[in-house]
Amino acid sequence: MKHTIGLRAISNSFNLPETHKMLQKTCREFAEKELQPVAAKIDKEHIYPKEQIKKLGELGLMAITLPEKDGGAALDYLAYAIAMEEISRGCASCGVVMSVNNSLYLGALQKFGSAPLKEKYMKPFVNGDRVGCFALSEPGNGSDAGAASTLAVLDGDSWVLNGTKAWITNGYEADAAVVFATTDKAKKHKGISCFLVPKPIKGLTLGKKEDKLGIKGSSTCNLIFEECRIPKENVIGQLGDGFKIAMTTLDAGRIGIAGQALGIAQAALDCAIHYAAQRQAFGSPILNLQAIQMKLADMELRIESARLLTWKAAMLKDARQNFTKEAALAKLAASEAATFVSHQAIQILGGMGYVSDMPAERHYRDARITEIYEGTSEIQNTSTFEAKSLSTSIDTMW
Ligand SMILES: Cc1cc2nc3c(=O)[nH]c(=O)nc-3n(C[C@H](O)[C@H](O)[C@H](O)COP(=O)(O)OP(=O)(O)OC[C@H]3O[C@@H](n4cnc5c(N)ncnc54)[C@H](O)[C@@H]3O)c2cc1C
Repeated sequence: MKHTIGLRAISNSFNLPETHKMLQKTCREFAEKELQPVAAKIDKEHIYPKEQIKKLGELGLMAITLPEKDGGAALDYLAYAIAMEEISRGCASCGVVMSVNNSLYLGALQKFGSAPLKEKYMKPFVNGDRVGCFALSEPGNGSDAGAASTLAVLDGDSWVLNGTKAWITNGYEADAAVVFATTDKAKKHKGISCFLVPKPIKGLTLGKKEDKLGIKGSSTCNLIFEECRIPKENVIGQLGDGFKIAMTTLDAGRIGIAGQALGIAQAALDCAIHYAAQRQAFGSPILNLQAIQMKLADMELRIESARLLTWKAAMLKDARQNFTKEAALAKLAASEAATFVSHQAIQILGGMGYVSDMPAERHYRDARITEIYEGTSEIQNTSTFEAKSLSTSIDTMW
């Protein structure tokens, strides 16, 4: 396979609609100009990229699929996948903040929220001034989301929340949270409901900021609810619909994480190609060595395959067809591609791959989370296998 520095093979020639090509170009230029130069500092100093998120909001990238009437960019999920890839290629921390706000926080509200909740908690969250978070996981249960033990009890005109949500991205910066809590324990996962909790609020404290392997610019923490009262009308969807809302929202979210993984993988490949063209060994650039060329070809193969799966999942969602299985496949393939490609990139850079003077080690650390959050690779495998029967049973269950 012949490589040219900076050239993206199929994704450049793939017949994307004009709007999507323009969006890709805008996001790519923004990432190269505004994100790549600061990504290492954001990572090293654990800086929340407030200024960059504001700019993403100005570009319409914090509410990509929301309709114009709600302040969104009114684009589709293919656009979202493309934007997530390009932004994460510049800075994976910005990518995760963007993805949680777009598909998990706004996504849940848009599909299931009441008109008053949308007015108050969706519209102010579209332009990068405010971000939301999505609180499903708990210290005792992540993959087994149906086992939620946070409780919500109705008391007069308020729901009273008690319990702890774990690993919440944007936990520190968010001005509101979509929170899942049990309203009827006897019904197990059918007794989980979904709530909008404004932040800050009495009865909600934040745990320590987790010290993570990668995506260090985004905050991750526990949300601790102790007698936290929220208005009765802050239920999202119907009582008992929480598990369905969580699963539906995560299906869409996985397209965004697949995009994030592709961006990290592409950044690692770009870095490896660039380095291999410069680095001399045995009298010529290492790019001329067949062993290196084969590695690069394999890296590109995995990215390109995962990109096509990701775009397919997005297109199915845009066509209003079932996409649960395809989103799981896309997330699985793209996250594994990111881990593989960033690992190989370090190898191609040799010693320079192992130090923070070059971005390869950051891509490697950033890549790893994409195999864990929004469903681990094992859970994607399971849902790929079960998606058809699962979606049928969810449809008939509710
Ligand atoms: C940086 C970061 C950010 C996050 N952001 C958020 C967020 O914003 N909101 C939120 O709600 N959560 C968030 N999470 C939580 C994340 O979604 C969970 O960590 C993830 O779902 C896995 O859950 P767990 O950590 O409890 O692992 P476990 O569920 O305990 O899994 C441990 C291992 O067992 C395997 N396993 C479990 N069940 C099965 C099964 N049925 N079949 C095969 N293997 C299985 C898993 O694949 C994994 O390898 C975040 C996590 C991290 C690290």
